Amino acid sequence: MDIKTKTESLIESLPPHVTLVAVSKTKSVAEISQAYEAGQRIFGENKIQEMAAKWEVLPKDISWHMIGHVQTNKVKYMAQFVDLIHGVDSLKLLKEIQKQALKHQRTIRCLLQIRIAEEETKFGLPVEKLKEVLETAKTYPNIEIVGLMGMATFTENSAQIAAEFNRLKEVYDQYAGQSTSFNTLSMGMSGDYQIAIACGSTMIRVGSKIFGERNS
Ligand SMILES: *Cc1c(COP(=O)(O)O)cnc(C)c1O
Repeated sequence: MDIKTKTESLIESLPPHVTLVAVSKTKSVAEISQAYEAGQRIFGENKIQEMAAKWEVLPKDISWHMIGHVQTNKVKYMAQFVDLIHGVDSLKLLKEIQKQALKHQRTIRCLLQIRIAEEETKFGLPVEKLKEVLETAKTYPNIEIVGLMGMATFTENSAQIAAEFNRLKEVYDQYAGQSTSFNTLSMGMSGDYQIAIACGSTMIRVGSKIFGERNS
C-alpha cells in the first residue's frame, strides 16, 4: 500500500472522537504530501528546525504539532506557527512558550506530558507536580493547556501498556470536567494506539504505520 492509501484506511478505521496526528519526522516533503492528499492535515514532528523547514514549503492549512522533547532555547523557531506542543514538562519551558507566544501575539496550545511509563525516562512531569504546573499555566495569558500527553513503556506486554494508559486517563479525568478547553488526551503510537483508544485516548500519534519504518 502507498502512503495515501495507508493514511485513508487508518483515518477510516478511527472512531470519530479520535484525532490522528501523522508523525512525519525524518520523512520528506513528497511523502508528507501523499498523506496530505489523503486529507490528513495534522502532522507531528520531534525536531523544531525540521518542522520549521517543512512548514515553510508545505501548504499553510497544515496544523503542525511538536511531539518531541522541547529545548527552551528553540521555542522561538516555532512560536510563529506551531498549533499544539505535546511535550511540555517543566515550568521553565512554559515560561518561555508564554514569552514567545506573546511576542507573536498568539495563544499557543499545549499538552502537559505526564510520566506514566515504568521504564526509566527523563521526560514528563511526575503526576504529583501536575496541579502546581496547571495553576501556574493559568497565569500565562498566551498559553492554553488543552490536555495531557503520555507515552507507555516500550514493551510487548499489552497489560502493562493498558495499565499505564489507564492511569493517565484517570489523571486526565480529574481535570477534564473543569474546563471545556481541557479536552485532549494524547496517547498511542503505531504499536499501541488501539490499546490507547480502548483506554480513552482522544489523539493518537502515528508514524511508521503510515510512512513506513524510519532509518534514523
Ligand atoms: C516517533 C514518535 C511517535 C510515532 O511513533 P511510531 O511508532 O512511528 O508511530 C509518536 N510519539 C512520539 C512522541 C514520537 O517521538
